[in-house]
Amino acid sequence: MSLETVTTRVPLLDLARQYRDLQTEIDGAIAACLQHQQWIQGPEVTAFESAVASFLGVPHAIGVSSGTDALVLALRALALMRTGKEYFSHDDHIVTTAFTFTATADAIVRAGATPVFVDIDPSTYVISAEAVEEYLRHASGRVVGILPVHLYGQMCDMDRIMALARAHGLFVVEDTAQAMGASWQQRAAGTIGDAGTFSFFPSKTLGGFGDGGLVATSHAQLAELIRELVSHGGRDKYRVSHIGYNARLDTIQAAILLAKLPSLDRYTRLRQHIAMQYTKAFCSLPGVQAPVVSLKCVHVYHQYTLAVPALKRTTFREVLQEQGVGSAVYYPTPLHCVPLFADGRALCGDTLVHTQAAAQRVVSIPIDPLLSSEEVDHVISRVYAALSVPVPSV
Ligand SMILES: *Cc1c(COP(=O)(O)O)cnc(C)c1O
Repeated sequence: MSLETVTTRVPLLDLARQYRDLQTEIDGAIAACLQHQQWIQGPEVTAFESAVASFLGVPHAIGVSSGTDALVLALRALALMRTGKEYFSHDDHIVTTAFTFTATADAIVRAGATPVFVDIDPSTYVISAEAVEEYLRHASGRVVGILPVHLYGQMCDMDRIMALARAHGLFVVEDTAQAMGASWQQRAAGTIGDAGTFSFFPSKTLGGFGDGGLVATSHAQLAELIRELVSHGGRDKYRVSHIGYNARLDTIQAAILLAKLPSLDRYTRLRQHIAMQYTKAFCSLPGVQAPVVSLKCVHVYHQYTLAVPALKRTTFREVLQEQGVGSAVYYPTPLHCVPLFADGRALCGDTLVHTQAAAQRVVSIPIDPLLSSEEVDHVISRVYAALSVPVPSV
């Protein structure tokens, strides 16, 4: 046994690597904040908003306190714009996926509406446009919007979702927390619907040193409403017109994110390169499903997610762990099975069979952009070993 095999440890995520990679820029950005002391809505917030707006190609980008708040704010602003009311009503239904982080549906509930879960596409795991269409054809309730989630860095079929939204007069909010930099037919994720929401949680493709988020939109009125809601609900503190929040993006987070943004494309290419090597190694591996990517989509691989037989997943992960390879399951419990949503706060629009199956089979393996090629090879050989298949010699 070589020493290398014993000592190689490939954690799912190693944030210190990115810090070391960009330490000069980041330290400089933080030092500048320490000097100017404008912690709330400092110059870096505006600079970061403009930088993201031009990165995405949208006129309006509003920095907010988290990806979750970005969703709540976008939905609240849409309620105000479309109904003139502060919140949606419980009878307002928003079609979304149950195969996502709890924040997606939580935000819908916090905006006053009811999530309706429809099934995912079994090969890409994102919301199925057919399922949305089928649901809309028979929907008994009042559907007001669609909330697609671009899962793992891959986008939903935005052509079909937008066509359905137009045909039924619905708004679309894209949960882009996992897909900053992805695109569908050359259009950036988060810029196709009425609003796109982003998260800068440390593990995301553009991660801060704490919580942070952003809403992107092309609607001036929506942008204006979101800016009011972010800061207590008014144009200024003493002319408050809405039930607002204190949900601003911190200056220091904006400064760090501004320092990291120029490296996002490079990191994305590194992730895509690792993904290519993984998929080449795993695409014909028996019992494993490598990610399937739509030809219309540029996938940014926030996660690299395999599907393994449900009964083997626990052992597979244990063996990887023993060999020093980190893994995670996103998401083990689909939201319709989470107690909060199972209690009538959300509805199921169909049987969700593919959602159930995916929740039992998926497993994400390390795809840090700064993994070395030795580490990538180690992960590949350990995945083979964990499935008890000999690694092919190349
Ligand atoms: C991370 C994430 C969120 C929430 O973002 P926070 O910044 O952690 O609040 C929402 N939706 C999805 C799909 C996510 O992955």
